[in-house]
Amino acid sequence: MSSNSEPNPKIIDLIAKKEAGSKPFVSIEFFPPRSDAGVKNLYARMQRMKESINPLFSDVTWGAGGSTADLTLEIAEHLKETGHVANMHMTCTNMEKDGDPKLAVHSALKTAQKYGIRNIVALRGDPAAGQDEWKAADGGFTCALDLVKYMRENFGDEFGISVAGYPEGHPNAISEIEDPSTMSESEKARSSTCDGKTFTCKDEDYKKEMDYLKQKIDAGADFIITQMFFDTKVFGTFVDDCRKWGINVPIVPGLMCINAYPGFCKMTKFCKTRVPAELQAKMDSIQDDAEAIKAFGVEYGIQMCRELMEIGVDVLHFYTLNLEKVTFGILKGLGYDVKGVVDESDASTMVAKGSAWARVGDKVKTIYGSGTVQDVRSDGTAQVMIESWSLAEGQTPTAFLQKEHYSKVF
Ligand SMILES: Cc1cc2nc3c(=O)[nH]c(=O)nc-3n(C[C@H](O)[C@H](O)[C@H](O)COP(=O)(O)OP(=O)(O)OC[C@H]3O[C@@H](n4cnc5c(N)ncnc54)[C@H](O)[C@@H]3O)c2cc1C
Repeated sequence: MSSNSEPNPKIIDLIAKKEAGSKPFVSIEFFPPRSDAGVKNLYARMQRMKESINPLFSDVTWGAGGSTADLTLEIAEHLKETGHVANMHMTCTNMEKDGDPKLAVHSALKTAQKYGIRNIVALRGDPAAGQDEWKAADGGFTCALDLVKYMRENFGDEFGISVAGYPEGHPNAISEIEDPSTMSESEKARSSTCDGKTFTCKDEDYKKEMDYLKQKIDAGADFIITQMFFDTKVFGTFVDDCRKWGINVPIVPGLMCINAYPGFCKMTKFCKTRVPAELQAKMDSIQDDAEAIKAFGVEYGIQMCRELMEIGVDVLHFYTLNLEKVTFGILKGLGYDVKGVVDESDASTMVAKGSAWARVGDKVKTIYGSGTVQDVRSDGTAQVMIESWSLAEGQTPTAFLQKEHYSKVF
């Protein structure tokens, strides 16, 4: 491992070096894996991806509810030590140290500073496990804006700061529309459908979103990384709107790599993402063919990136899901110099730390054969319908299994 004792440069200074007419820079995102084997494999992948695509910067996420704080810091340090410019995510959810949430944030930032990590994605975070609504800890931050302000007040220019932007509106600002014919043209353009229902961020809510985003930038954020999207027109409109709102910082498009059908469906439903009808139809038609999904992920990614390059972006930011095949494929297709050979033999170890052990509907392998999860308790115990057994009169047995006794089938 090469040692890098110098603090990382700030990403905003690196973006500023982009020459007119040159291809966009590339950046990538990883999440902290659940198991030690996953972390070991991730470190090997980070090394390979540094050598093969040399990203401008590399993000590591902060697990839902702050569940990975120490591991995120460790991975960010490792990124930096292996020559990446680390962009460490940090959320305000469940941040408490000696009962004081600000102390916990301060101490995590001090640790980052000690490691020479100079770039932070300042986020509010999603609700902690088991909660529907996000609640601030007593005396803690209420939103990402508070975190940005705190960092600038207490650490000055020590850190480069990026914040999240939502081209379709934050999921909390997206509502169901009873009568789609009442939507304005702009509401229609960013609308999505799920289970036969129509959703959109209404114009008045979108304006509030933009006002708030402007506050995050005015408080000292250097640039924006967007939520995933699959319709580049929505991104283009968002960029135009940001400029109208006086938000003039770089806007980095977040590109979710299409790696697998179940993950695509789960994420787009959770984020209420707009999925163009032809994209959904294609995904549905090849859902049982894992290799075809990846090949299509590459094809669709290339098309999206070409459209983004026409709009004009400084950076293409890939949510890699800790894998490499789709990112490499897209970059190759766009004519980037990609070295090395794809190796995803470790894919089953790339399960996020802090994510549910399994979710209702997941297919699992158990000591009694294969089955489907019916319920999961907070300690990871799952109720599984064992489909490989059938009892008299066509009944199917149900087993209650501790988390060590079942594993997800990917
Ligand atoms: C690029 C990116 C990276 C992410 N990384 C992570 C991660 O590592 N870990 C993780 O747990 N989650 C991550 N998330 C998810 C994110 O934590 C959630 O989307 C969360 O619900 C909101 O975080 P935020 O920083 O956007 O919140 P905020 O910027 O605080 O905004 C959340 C919502 O509240 C509204 N709002 C908040 N305060 C105000 C106010 N004062 N006035 C008006 N409106 C307000 C905003 O308009 C918005 O709708 C990421 C999201 C993105 C887009």
